[in-house]
Amino acid sequence: MIHYSNYINGQFVGSAHGETLTVINPATGEAISTVPNSDETEVAAAITAAEDAQPAWAALPAVERGKHLHELADKLREKVEPLARCISEEQGKTLGLARVEVNFTADYIDYMAEWGRRIEGEVIESDRPKENIFLFHKPIGVVAGILPWNFPFFLIARKMAPALICGNSIVLKSSEETPNNAFEFCKILDETSIPAGLINIVSGLGATAGCALTESPKVGLITFTGSVETGSRIMAAAARNLTKVNLELGGKAPAIVTANADLDMAATAIQASRVINSGQVCNCAERVYVQRSVAEAFTEKLVQKMQAARFGNPLEDETVDYGPMINQAGYDKIVSLLDSSVAAGAKVLCGGKRGAGENGYYFEPTVVVDCTQDMDLVQQEIFGPVVPIVVFDTLDEAVSMANDTEYGLTSSVFSNDINEALDLVDRLNFGETYVNREHFEAMQGYHAGWRKSGIGGADGKHGLHEFMQTQVVYLQRH
Ligand code: NAD
Repeated sequence: MIHYSNYINGQFVGSAHGETLTVINPATGEAISTVPNSDETEVAAAITAAEDAQPAWAALPAVERGKHLHELADKLREKVEPLARCISEEQGKTLGLARVEVNFTADYIDYMAEWGRRIEGEVIESDRPKENIFLFHKPIGVVAGILPWNFPFFLIARKMAPALICGNSIVLKSSEETPNNAFEFCKILDETSIPAGLINIVSGLGATAGCALTESPKVGLITFTGSVETGSRIMAAAARNLTKVNLELGGKAPAIVTANADLDMAATAIQASRVINSGQVCNCAERVYVQRSVAEAFTEKLVQKMQAARFGNPLEDETVDYGPMINQAGYDKIVSLLDSSVAAGAKVLCGGKRGAGENGYYFEPTVVVDCTQDMDLVQQEIFGPVVPIVVFDTLDEAVSMANDTEYGLTSSVFSNDINEALDLVDRLNFGETYVNREHFEAMQGYHAGWRKSGIGGADGKHGLHEFMQTQVVYLQRH
């Protein structure tokens, strides 16, 4: 079994107190590695390293910082296969998706590096003669990034690349479920010319290592991706030092299928959005609203497509469509939401059970009909390959049910009537809406949740600006 060490100030350092966490392969239930269960002292060392390295990095022209990031992206592309296997082994996603994750991560780092020549300030007209007002975008300093387990490798880049191109340094804490890929990332980082101390990665629990990051007065920005519950705790901890927070939290994305939809296309897109990564994606289609006149035809198509999805151990069979749930708790949550909804009158059309003959936490592809708005499957984040379907009569009804949620991350509309589609888009209260396509965002967009789905956002120009603060300079000539 492999043992990993924290990466602090350009060095792999073993834990001083020797406490470790064991990492499990969710496809088999087997232990695959141990990692440091970092305490406050180790997190403090990482923050100090980041603090010391940041000023010299910020003093470099942004285009030079970008060259370092391009070098890192190139090196990641040389290691796609071993990185994909590592991600797949600890997280359970298919090898195909893990390869996409690594390549997308490299592309994302390149994309952010390209902003080096595009960060622009402003010259503002003054009320006074002979005065210029300049607005500069400046780095924040030390950024803390706290990672989830579902796209653990990509999330390193989503936090690190904008932080670094803007002149910040970063301390990242990996999820306790998926720390291995972060340390494999560090091995590659260690071969680049990126100065020591700019990117530090520690493993550990949220209650100890995570809290040590969020409570530190030396951290200028906490960027977190994970659950609403943890996001709320992080915000409370950040309040003590008035640290800026950037929160990417959970979702309960509605997909609205109207009588004017291309039903094949809608069923294909919704199946893809529900099966990818075993349904464990924040912007996955989590509930479907279908218009009564096409409900039967659409449901039949969706059931066929869901039943065709094959699951299994992704490292043993490259052709499976999805792997296991991340852990027992993830599996148990699906069962409990399904059980309570069935008790309330929902009907399982396909699936609904543990994957037979498998040791890991597998769940069958499942379609549930006769769902109503108050059921747990329609209200709570499922994070699994289960689609609840609710039938509606009028578009007003569909919009009102779709918006009836604490979350506000993503949503989708399926209709070939452009007026109808745009009207629905206009009335949906979500940070992201997909029209006639699967749920998956682009790096140049802006991934930002409304309501309890988060504060601020990631990606593109607007995501980049989360990692900077402004300085306005008033220059009076005499
Ligand atoms: P989680 O909230 O359980 O844990 C995320 C991270 O927070 C882990 O690293 C954990 O150790 C840390 N943590 C826990 N308690 C902490 C505390 N008190 N202080 C500091 N850190 C703490 O989330 P998860 O189960 O890893 O991820 C799944 C959730 O993430 C889902 O709800 C999903 O929708 C959401 N998610 C959102 C996005 C997005 O872009 N909006 C993307 C991916 C996942």
